[in-house]
Amino acid sequence: MKILGIEHIGIAVKNLEESSRFWNEILGIEFTATDDVDGQGVITNIYDTGAGKIELLISKYPDSPIAKFLNSRGSGIHHICLQVDNIERAIKYLSEQDVNLIGNSAVIGAEGYKVIFIHPNSTGGVLVELAEKKN
Ligand code: ZN
Repeated sequence: MKILGIEHIGIAVKNLEESSRFWNEILGIEFTATDDVDGQGVITNIYDTGAGKIELLISKYPDSPIAKFLNSRGSGIHHICLQVDNIERAIKYLSEQDVNLIGNSAVIGAEGYKVIFIHPNSTGGVLVELAEKKN
């Protein structure tokens, strides 16, 4: 498996408007997309610095993983996403290394990427997303 770079940093927020003001208006990072990822119960607002994105996450449902995160830890960094060249190879390799993946196979995440998450208990406490971009 090959890591191609940091794709984005996911930040859980309670108030999208307030957070957008900071990232977009104050810092001037270009807003590029809103994505409704219903399978994960989340709406994402994506801002592209040109060298890595900021993904603001708000919960769609009171029992979604983002809602649980916000309830227990408040707003803040939720995950980092690394781009991989081939997610199937990454899943196979990490499984062989006894790394704990969340789920057994890749799902379609924001921007249509194929994604899988690595459990924080395998990474030193950070939720890590792997993403393969479609060609
Ligand atoms: Zn993400």
